[in-house]
Amino acid sequence: MQTIGRFAPSPSGRMHLGNVLCALLAYLSARRQNGRFLLRIEDLDAMRCPRSFADLIMDDLRWLGLEWDGEVLYQSERAAIYERYAAILRDKGLLYPCFCSRAALHAASAPHLSDGRVIYAGTCRGLTPEQIAEKRKTRAPATRVRVPDEVVRFTDAVWGEYAENLAEECGDFIVQRSDGVFAYQLAVVVDDALTGVNEVVRGADLLSSAPRQIWLYRQFGFTPPRFAHLPLLCDHDGRRLSKRDEDLDLGLLRQRFTPEQVIGALACAAGLADGPEPIAAYELISAFDWSKIPRHDLFLPDIFRS
Ligand code: GLU
Repeated sequence: MQTIGRFAPSPSGRMHLGNVLCALLAYLSARRQNGRFLLRIEDLDAMRCPRSFADLIMDDLRWLGLEWDGEVLYQSERAAIYERYAAILRDKGLLYPCFCSRAALHAASAPHLSDGRVIYAGTCRGLTPEQIAEKRKTRAPATRVRVPDEVVRFTDAVWGEYAENLAEECGDFIVQRSDGVFAYQLAVVVDDALTGVNEVVRGADLLSSAPRQIWLYRQFGFTPPRFAHLPLLCDHDGRRLSKRDEDLDLGLLRQRFTPEQVIGALACAAGLADGPEPIAAYELISAFDWSKIPRHDLFLPDIFRS
């Protein structure tokens, strides 16, 4: 079966180095297997994701030499499709309206031990139709999906075996926000499945999303993809890079470096090259191998220190 990979950025700002690393490895893995590499713009929240940012991301990807195949998909145009899949969950009796405010959620939820994630306490799980009708008068609800007390396991290309009990470690999660916007967890599964994506490469911050996504794949009758969650980039103080590190966004990096310098430094940080010498992305394809990618956080290459 042909490999179909993808890069799925949320255009709430300019790409930063972490996004570039993710795009690079998704591209290299797909190309190494003679596969296709798709681009999807995750602009579900259209208010926070203007088209101008999506255009910049595409311009930056071309500058980096990370060419994608085919049409670009915009999640903001696909609400009707997500609705069809939400209806499948609804028909199975898995959805319920949740009226909890953010403050109520934090007050009632048990924090997850390892990563601070809050697990929904189930406050709205058992509301009667009368209670729902009453609450609707004052508040638009979000929609949650009821998860089973079930362990979901998978083998990640970087981290190996990963397992999570959905009820204990995740809890019922939101598939549609109270303003009608569909949630990332639902949209990402529907889009990857419908576009034939069978290899998902993304940051390790999303590792714990994979079990609930795999469970959704099964609910829809789809086969889950292979996952590869990348170690995160951190600065020399061990702090993970974020969109707030504006000095490392592509707008400024493009003024200071060539694409080959950016790619070469990231390839070295990720264990794909011995030194940070400039190199074009396509030149890394033939030697790409997941076994080279380390499991620890990656240090920001020296050339990017200001
Ligand atoms: N849109 C997400 C992000 O930019 C990535 C989602 C995914 O790759 O599954 O962080």
